Amino acid sequence: MAGVFGIKNALQVTFQMMHAMQYRGEQSAGVVLADKNNEIFYERELDRVTDLARKVGFESLQRERGDDFFAGIGHLRYGTSGDRQSRENAQPLAAHKENWSIYIAHNGDTPFYDQMKQGLLVSGTVFGTTSDTELILKFIGEAKSSDPFSAISQGLSRYRGTYALTMLLQVNGVAYLVAARDPSGNRPLVLGSMNGGYLVASEDTAFEAVGGETLREINPGEMVVVSKGGITSSKIPAGSINGVPPRLYACMFELIYFSFPNSTIFGIPVCEFREELGGIVANRLGHEVKLEHVITNVPDSSNSFADGFAKALEIPLERVIVRRHFGRSFTQDTTVKREYTTRTKHSFAKNKVKDRVVWCLDDSIVRGITSRRVVRALRSMGAKEVRMISASPPIIGPCKKGVDFDNDLIAAKYAVGGEPDIEKIRQDIEADRLYYATIEDLKEALRVLKRNRGAENDFCFGCFENKDPIWNAW
Ligand code: AMP
Repeated sequence: MAGVFGIKNALQVTFQMMHAMQYRGEQSAGVVLADKNNEIFYERELDRVTDLARKVGFESLQRERGDDFFAGIGHLRYGTSGDRQSRENAQPLAAHKENWSIYIAHNGDTPFYDQMKQGLLVSGTVFGTTSDTELILKFIGEAKSSDPFSAISQGLSRYRGTYALTMLLQVNGVAYLVAARDPSGNRPLVLGSMNGGYLVASEDTAFEAVGGETLREINPGEMVVVSKGGITSSKIPAGSINGVPPRLYACMFELIYFSFPNSTIFGIPVCEFREELGGIVANRLGHEVKLEHVITNVPDSSNSFADGFAKALEIPLERVIVRRHFGRSFTQDTTVKREYTTRTKHSFAKNKVKDRVVWCLDDSIVRGITSRRVVRALRSMGAKEVRMISASPPIIGPCKKGVDFDNDLIAAKYAVGGEPDIEKIRQDIEADRLYYATIEDLKEALRVLKRNRGAENDFCFGCFENKDPIWNAW
């Protein structure tokens, strides 16, 4: 998700930021831009950023109108609710009132889609999508206030779900950029600056791509409005959740997998976190690793974790697996497509593994497709043993806050009474040994990186515990 305001050439900057974050979602890409005459340019595509650029005729648009655009938002879809193939669900979504229009890009999810929708249907609301984001628009539309900024704040306080949002607002023909984050701070959102203007993005790696600077996080429960006059900040009124006042639950999986290594999210540099975690796991398992063994990473998301592991054991990491780049396999929406991509994605340096014990480090094992493929490939190349380590603890529960973990979780398949049977998972992925980082390892890494003993209390571990600590309901 990207937002730009007060920047000459907002067209190029918005596209560039989206391109830099393509890995966050590949199901659809969309932009809304405002030009100096307050005209809106709005386009969506059920595809990637480069396809959107082709569709809008980026080069000629840039040549002819490049300098006109001064504000914009962009969205990359990683669908969690609603049909992924539906163009209506591609974001940004739009809504119009008498004297204002709102375009919204959302990262987040809700377990209460049906209940909230039912409530709105009863009051006569008509829906054009199956996306939870439309509920946010409807709540904003229903707000009593005639002031659009108060209406947004009121609408958000009625929405029960996680959100990081960038919005482009046009009030009486004047454009504003609005960014907001729910009180749990579950999804990341950062504020940056560039040439006297402002940037907003899911991750600050996008600022680097355009030569911008990071200012700070959009705070949990904060709404920031960017206008020609600068920025203003306000607090979104938040009710209690099941009788408990809102508190922080930042997404652990962002740090383990989702975010780009050079980003800093939730105040933590991502690659430092992963390296620290690798070192902590090495301290626990190191006695089983021998100098003559191979330690290797499953590129790219486990690279820093594997670096930390190898470094702690003072054994050089060997690059056995090479990755072809054409997107992340999880964003494919059928198992057939996922298996196809997973097969093509990795290539192997065969000669390094023959007759050797190979330690293979990955960021997580979700369905187990990648691990099984890697184990089989290494074994067919003559590895004596293949031992897997996952930087994520077993994922046994759904998410409903922003990560699409509903189906086919391998650890959930073998969990009894909330306890995953690691031996059964090992057999299923055909590894000789299987280890996971523990929740305690993650907490230790958070404490080290945040230099604070209570740091772990700000994070959500729900998918590892099959609990929903935020809403306490699925
Ligand atoms: P898998 O083959 O399903 O075990 O997972 C392969 C890779 O994709 C791992 O690096 C996972 O972290 C990632 N992954 C799989 N499913 C998802 C998902 N639903 N959301 C995010 N990442 C995923």
